[in-house]
This record gives sequence, C-alpha cells and structure tokens, in this order.
Amino acid sequence: MARIFCIANQKGGVGKTTTTVNLAAGLVRIGQRVLVVDLDPQGNTTMGSGLDKRALEATVYDVLIGAAPAADAIQHVERVGYDVLGANRELAGAEVELVEIDQRDRRLKLALAEIQDDYDFILIDCPPSLSLLTLNGLTCAHGVIVPMQCEYFALEGLSDLVNSIKQVHANLNRELHLIGLLRVMFDPRMTLQQQVSEQLQAHFGDKVFKTIIPRNVRLAEAPSYGLPGVIFDPTAKGSVAFIEFAREMVERVGVQAAVAKAGATPA
Ligand code: ADP
Ligand code: MG
Repeated sequence: MARIFCIANQKGGVGKTTTTVNLAAGLVRIGQRVLVVDLDPQGNTTMGSGLDKRALEATVYDVLIGAAPAADAIQHVERVGYDVLGANRELAGAEVELVEIDQRDRRLKLALAEIQDDYDFILIDCPPSLSLLTLNGLTCAHGVIVPMQCEYFALEGLSDLVNSIKQVHANLNRELHLIGLLRVMFDPRMTLQQQVSEQLQAHFGDKVFKTIIPRNVRLAEAPSYGLPGVIFDPTAKGSVAFIEFAREMVERVGVQAAVAKAGATPA
C-alpha cells in the first residue's frame, strides 16, 4: 500500500512543484510506482508532468466533489514514468463547494483509498495556503515534506505550518508526521543562506534532510518542456540532487514501507 506524502509550504514560489515532480521522477528511477496528485488550482504540476491542464477530461476537482472515481481521473504519463491526478483552475471552486459536502476534509482520503494499493508512493503537491484543499492533503498523508529556501523569512512561516501539522495530527490524522525540511534553491556562496541552513539544523536536527537542492537553471527550464528536470537533463546538478533525495526518502520512510508491505502480503 502506498505511502502518501504532502509537499507543503503555505508560501508560494518556494519549490513545492519542482520538488513534487522531480522527487516523483527520481523515485521512478529507483523502481518505485508513483502517483502525483496536483492539489493546486494553478495546475503547474500537471503541466510540468506533460499534461495539458485545459484538456483534462476529469481532474482532482471531480474526484473531490464525488463526480468521478480517482481511477477515472488518473492518467499515466509515459514520458515521465509516473501517474498524474491533474488539476486546473476549476479546483479553485472546490474550496467553496466542499464546505457543503459531507466529510469535507476527508474527501481525498476516501478517494485515494480505492487506488492506494496500486502505488508505492503518492505525492501530493499542495496549494500555497493552509486551506481546505491542503487540509484534505494532510488528512490523508503519512507525512509532510517541506521545501524551503534558506532566507531570512523562511523560518517565520514554518511555525504556522508545523502547528497545522500538529493540529491535524491531534484531530484528524494520527498517522501524520513532519518527515523533513528540504533546503532548495540553495546557493552556497550566500552567507545568509549558510547561516539560515545552520539555524535550521540547530532547530530541527535530523528533521532537516541531508540532501540539499542547489539553485540550478536546468530545473527552472524543464517545466516549459513539460518535463521534470530529472528527465529533461538527468546529469544537471539539480537533477542529480533530486535523484539523491529520492534515495534519501526511500531510506527515511523505507523501514515503515517494508513493514507495511510485509503486513499486506497474504500468508
Ligand atoms: P511553488 O510550487 O512552491 O510555487 P515552484 O516549484 O513552482 O514553487 O518554484 C518557483 C520557481 O522557482 C519556478 O519558476 C521554478 O522553476 C524555480 N525553481 C524551483 N527550484 C529551483 C532550483 N532548485 N533552481 C532554480 N530554479 C528553481
Ligand atoms: Mg506550485
């Protein structure tokens, strides 16, 4: 049964989408079966995985409001090697419509339960807010991966996010944990970034992933080709870092995954 992870940070432009698609592609490279769920109405993960968000027959929106089962809205994208449950701007309306719907914070969990056995990893790219959509992600996840830039204000938003995770853990989802903080767009020449990175490690210890994702123009270019950097240019230093991060993720959550798999095997 898949392990489900949210890629979350309520700030925009911090590297959530880049992390989602490249971690997915990195996991595929090491033999994992991966589904990516785009929970952001901007649909960047959908486009960045090679799907035209305007041409989708069914999206995560239809799944959330109960108009389509997940299996009908998921598409396999051959070029990237993983499956995608896509999104477009229609999803922005879900926020309002969900309020009226029964079990509104568990809609995604209920929908993914039907297809969870088909994957090793499900990665959910969350919108830049602590909204009902993000809540749906957190409610069905085993863990949260937080990409962040090592800038002065980075630490500020972090406590809100950590508090949200704690609240969801206490009230809605006992399985939810902060898996780790991922330093992205890192430029080692910047003294400030070095300092913030050290503060992060001092504060969060081994909750900070060992892998650091450098600032790398190939990662920024890849989405315009509808590809994750890891596939667009696997030898670029940003791609190499994401492939390394995929290994670190498997190592970090691998023990639980192995136990879960063993438990699921019929005697
Ligand atoms: P979010 O999903 O949090 O809004 P994105 O992943 O879309 O953030 O990243 C914001 C911008 O930064 C995008 O233009 C993306 O291509 C670029 N970017 C992300 N990570 C890197 C990186 N490591 N090096 C260079 N550019 C990056
Ligand atoms: Mg994004």
